[in-house]
Amino acid sequence: MTELQASLDAIAARAASDEDRGRVADYIPELARVDPLRFGIAVALPSGAVLSAGDADVAFSIQSISKVFTLAIALGRLGDGLWRRVGREPSGQPFNSILQLETEHGIPRNPFINAGALVVTDAILAGHKPRDLLGEILDFVREAAGDEDIHINRAVAASEAEWGARNRALAEFMRSWGNLEHPVDLVIGTYVHQCAVEMTCRQLARAGLFLTGAEGTPALVSAQRIRRINALMMTCGHYDASGDFAYRVGLPGKSGVGGGILMVVPGRASIAVWSPGLDETGNSKLGSRALEELVAATGWSVLG
Ligand code: GLU
Repeated sequence: MTELQASLDAIAARAASDEDRGRVADYIPELARVDPLRFGIAVALPSGAVLSAGDADVAFSIQSISKVFTLAIALGRLGDGLWRRVGREPSGQPFNSILQLETEHGIPRNPFINAGALVVTDAILAGHKPRDLLGEILDFVREAAGDEDIHINRAVAASEAEWGARNRALAEFMRSWGNLEHPVDLVIGTYVHQCAVEMTCRQLARAGLFLTGAEGTPALVSAQRIRRINALMMTCGHYDASGDFAYRVGLPGKSGVGGGILMVVPGRASIAVWSPGLDETGNSKLGSRALEELVAATGWSVLG
């Protein structure tokens, strides 16, 4: 435990002096206001202990990390029926690419690229008002984290809705293929709010504990689904850098353009890291570096 704390302190200290921090996302204007010098990391253990360093208590926009939670809800609601509408293969393309949708008849490659996440949101909207679904997503995340103090930043959602022409295009395109049941505005409106959930590293690390499958963690989905969500995080969690993250870090993770990454050490720990500067593939630059350092220090890997 003290060794782990020492590793986190060393990682945060190194990150603080790193000048090569990447670029804060600015295509959602509200995200561009975030201080690029922020860095936080937290490790939640199945015992309930949470170790952290840096800005681990500062809330940030989880953005695409929300796709892990909506996928868990969708699999619970639709089961394997979901896979008729979205694939399970890495895309090898940027997070917001439209390229494959044309040749693949409006079926997105996986639930973690934007097109796939829009389909997932559309699927779980069935029978719900958007407000109720957002309430359900928040309830899920709050229960996972064991913390009621998790909210949606409406200014971030509004900012993304205003500047979200690309996502709207993806949604319209999928609708033309019959793979979107609800009106595009409804799906986009819900999606931008789910992405605008804010959490601290400590909250997010705790919220990921259910994915470790460890005894004593919240039993929100079945063991089989936990394996499958982890598999998708491993193969598709970092867009066109998923293979590189798997090679360098070697554990299931999901990144977001807010600069956060949630990573799971099956059976052992859930980790959240946040540094707003992104690399050219839209993943947190210092965040992925920090996770690489953490696995080197702890020896954590898929081999157990
Ligand atoms: N809300 C962001 C978008 O749709 C999520 C992208 C991300 O976090 O990677 O553009």
